[in-house]
Amino acid sequence: MTEKFDVIVIGGGPGGYVAAIRAAQLGLSTACIDMNTGKNGKAALGGTCLNVGCIPSKALLDSSKHFHHLQHDYASHGISVSNASIDINTMISRKDDVVSKLTGGVAQLFKANKVRQFHGRGRLLADRQVEFTPHASTEKIMLEAQNIILAAGSVPIAIPNVTFDNKRIIDNEGALNLTEVPNRLGVIGAGVIGLELGSVWQRLGSKVTLLEALPEFLPAADHDVAKQAGRLFKKQGLDIRLGTMVKSANIDGDVVNVKIEDKTGQSEISFDRLLVAVGRKPYTDGLLSDDSGVTLNERGQIDVNEQSQTSVPGVWAVGDCVRGPMLAHKASEEGIAVAELIAGKAAHIHFDTIPWVIYTDPEIAWVGKTEQQLKEEGVAYRSGSFPFAATGRGLAMGDAAGMVKMLADEVTDEILGVHIIGPNASELIAECVVTMEFHGASEDLARIVHAHPTLSEAVHEAALHLDKRAIHRGN
Ligand code: FAD
Ligand code: NAD
Repeated sequence: MTEKFDVIVIGGGPGGYVAAIRAAQLGLSTACIDMNTGKNGKAALGGTCLNVGCIPSKALLDSSKHFHHLQHDYASHGISVSNASIDINTMISRKDDVVSKLTGGVAQLFKANKVRQFHGRGRLLADRQVEFTPHASTEKIMLEAQNIILAAGSVPIAIPNVTFDNKRIIDNEGALNLTEVPNRLGVIGAGVIGLELGSVWQRLGSKVTLLEALPEFLPAADHDVAKQAGRLFKKQGLDIRLGTMVKSANIDGDVVNVKIEDKTGQSEISFDRLLVAVGRKPYTDGLLSDDSGVTLNERGQIDVNEQSQTSVPGVWAVGDCVRGPMLAHKASEEGIAVAELIAGKAAHIHFDTIPWVIYTDPEIAWVGKTEQQLKEEGVAYRSGSFPFAATGRGLAMGDAAGMVKMLADEVTDEILGVHIIGPNASELIAECVVTMEFHGASEDLARIVHAHPTLSEAVHEAALHLDKRAIHRGN
């Protein structure tokens, strides 16, 4: 017998589980199928983000940051520690505890909201039928719903002649579970994962080399921010080699030998571990039957319109498996919007005001357009900036590298983009997102009282600088 629901969600990551909870809150009978299994062999909701992405990487970034500060920064506060050491297994099991608290928390939320959880694989058939294969079973169970939400997420991209063995040549999951600090860590790709996970192991003592194919560092970020970031990361010891193509990687005993080509020609470089972080691709393997009617685009993403509707009425798709940035908060907001649309409410996402954050030290965060984009689009703009080194709070914290840069329309003064590199950039950007959502002007931020001494004063002063009236810097 086919069990029927109002909504079936396939995928329990931040797109899927949030959609399921919101649908249930709206009174819809909801099921969520997720096949992920945790280290304990049990269902682990939360997808890439909670299990092998956002959360575990931030846990390790925090542990490694404490260790780094202990060794390099606390002496200036008069705090001295001799023979500081780190136990990698404790660090990893702390990370695992954080992950299991959160994945368990999602399971609790499912219970509280009466979302039916199915652990195993889901496959969309024609007519909104779903075939469910329970975990570690070959049994097939048929489910059916008025609406289906596909939230199958993404997986790492592999490159030719570099084969993962998950020991020496690893992906993000491997880099989050190393049991010792590699002496030499190679990273293919100086993007978000390469920088975040490269920073973790560099702070713990690895010599980290990032091999980046593009000639430009962080091209998606504002150029001034990327320039400062490149300089600061180099000072920290990250060896970022731009314009470097990886030809092949071969494991030879304990070593990975990587053949590269750059402007000086071909050469070989050896590492103890090699992390491949060259981007992610939508995961749709086994998700759709041939007659499901759902189409994919040329990038392998599920085709959706602005409202996340696929080519089949009643079938929706959200998160990493569709167009747009691969970010957890983007996936979750799409999930909420779809649940609300299904329930007959109005819902809309502003893709232009989705914030980006890179959790390096200093953090990098931005929203809206970069200066180079405004130039390319021929938009007349004004720019203001303010260094954290001129803030009392940054100096008191001993964490004052970086700046806030703000871009606003020359005529209307509406804020078009804000770019931050510095302490707590991940939190500071929220004020700028809110202002942009309300189509606020730099004058609005300039006139708002910001507490003293806070890092947010750098946002305030950048807004003032845009109008050549910053107080604590020359204009
Ligand atoms: P996913 O989280 O990938 O979840 C999809 C789920 O669906 C998975 O559990 C999968 O097993 C399941 N599934 C797939 N197919 C099926 C099927 N047929 N049947 C049943 N289940 C299925 N983003 C941020 O915003 N901030 C960060 O700090 C951040 N850090 C990251 C760090 C790393 C190392 C990585 C790899 C990613 C990071 N991301 C971050 C990106 C973020 O993890 C993703 O954008 C987000 O998880 C996408 O959510 P999703 O729900 O679309 O997919
Ligand atoms: P990315 O797109 O950020 O970076 C990949 C890098 O690899 C790029 O700079 C690219 O030019 C380079 N590259 C591609 N092919 C190459 C090759 N053959 N040789 C050398 N370099 C090559 O991708 P990622 O770091 O794998 O992360 C995937 C996605 O996960 C991100 O785009 C982001 O959406 C998400 N993520 C987000 C966060 C965050 O929000 N803080 C953190 C981690 C991951």
